[in-house]
Amino acid sequence: MKPVPDHAVNRLRAWRKSISTRPFLARGGTLARCPACQLREDWCACEWRPELKAEAGFCLLMYDSEPMKPSNTGRLIADVLPDTTWAFLWSRTQPHPELLALLADPAWQPYVVFPACEKEPARLTGEVTLAPGKKPLFILLDGTWPEARKMFNKSPYLDGFPVLAIKPDTLSTYGMRVANSEEHLCTAEVAACVLEVAGELKAGQALQHWFNLFSSRYMAGRVSRFPSADEEHLCEALAAIKEANVASPAC
Ligand SMILES: [Zn+2]
Repeated sequence: MKPVPDHAVNRLRAWRKSISTRPFLARGGTLARCPACQLREDWCACEWRPELKAEAGFCLLMYDSEPMKPSNTGRLIADVLPDTTWAFLWSRTQPHPELLALLADPAWQPYVVFPACEKEPARLTGEVTLAPGKKPLFILLDGTWPEARKMFNKSPYLDGFPVLAIKPDTLSTYGMRVANSEEHLCTAEVAACVLEVAGELKAGQALQHWFNLFSSRYMAGRVSRFPSADEEHLCEALAAIKEANVASPAC
């Protein structure tokens, strides 16, 4: 059994599981999964998982049972950046005190990552511009598209922050979640784009590769076929990132 990485999303997942009154029935719930990467046991990808450090932070607001879904990709962000990723269950009226403390921490400059802001278009921006001494904190709304929209519209504690709209050049490669909008990327892909916008190219690329490998193997697990041969280059790229990281752990 692979050790489960100790990071915010896995801790939230364990806690959310502990307060459930009924066992969570995920799609494909009968599959034996690796407890760490949530892929089919025999296609575990843990050995390729990159772990990096970045200046940027991520604050995941997760909708209800989202942390328990094996298909959740917010977890992949915490896999790659465990030191600067936080995760909280979303609440409209009772946000976690640690969430409020994080949002008020002067070390961070929060941005809500969302594609539009019809009510207050002036909040929209496509760039990350930091005040001296501040690091960017990207707030991601992790759920289905309608859930993300609900969280965006009904979280008064987020209303004062600028809204970072990501316009990716490429559409999602992730076909396993039903999205209402063609351009709706999943959470890990959005985070990879955000890292690039923030100038954290290494971390963005590592996350994109890790997501692509996860996605390829997850889809293969659903239809019970071997993962695509194309993933060889992903494994090579991830191995190179791990190697570079061992040589220079501060990157
Ligand atoms: Zn695994």
